[in-house]
Amino acid sequence: MRRSHYHAGDSHACECVADCELAARRRRAKRVLLNSRLLDEDATVLASVIAHELQHARDYEQIRLGALSPDCTELEVRAFEAQSRTWRTLWPAELPTTTQVEQDLTRVSLVYDANGVEGLRRMVAGAAFYQRECASRDAA
Ligand SMILES: [Zn+2]
Repeated sequence: MRRSHYHAGDSHACECVADCELAARRRRAKRVLLNSRLLDEDATVLASVIAHELQHARDYEQIRLGALSPDCTELEVRAFEAQSRTWRTLWPAELPTTTQVEQDLTRVSLVYDANGVEGLRRMVAGAAFYQRECASRDAA
């Protein structure tokens, strides 16, 4: 069963990770599913979340072709980088924090602004959700 793909920050973690990878293994990762609650958000939120998911989709294709290593943490880092670059491009001045999702996107972007990819790597590696997800997949 597919779970929702909503994830914008480390508190909600990346619900899609397991599913996306599962989908990639089944070679039918052709869809990006978004939680319907995102429809109430600003279009810039959707754009940033979709940027995250499209990076996953590109990466899974590269993994399938043998051109990219399926490293759990690194895949999230790459997706959060794409998400943050989109969010920052759409909000070059002050980042919005009105909704919970906006707060998540802004928090991740500030990490990226301050410490780049290494900051995102520490964020993902330090998140309990990813530690669980990545450990279970590495064992599989
Ligand atoms: Zn992700």
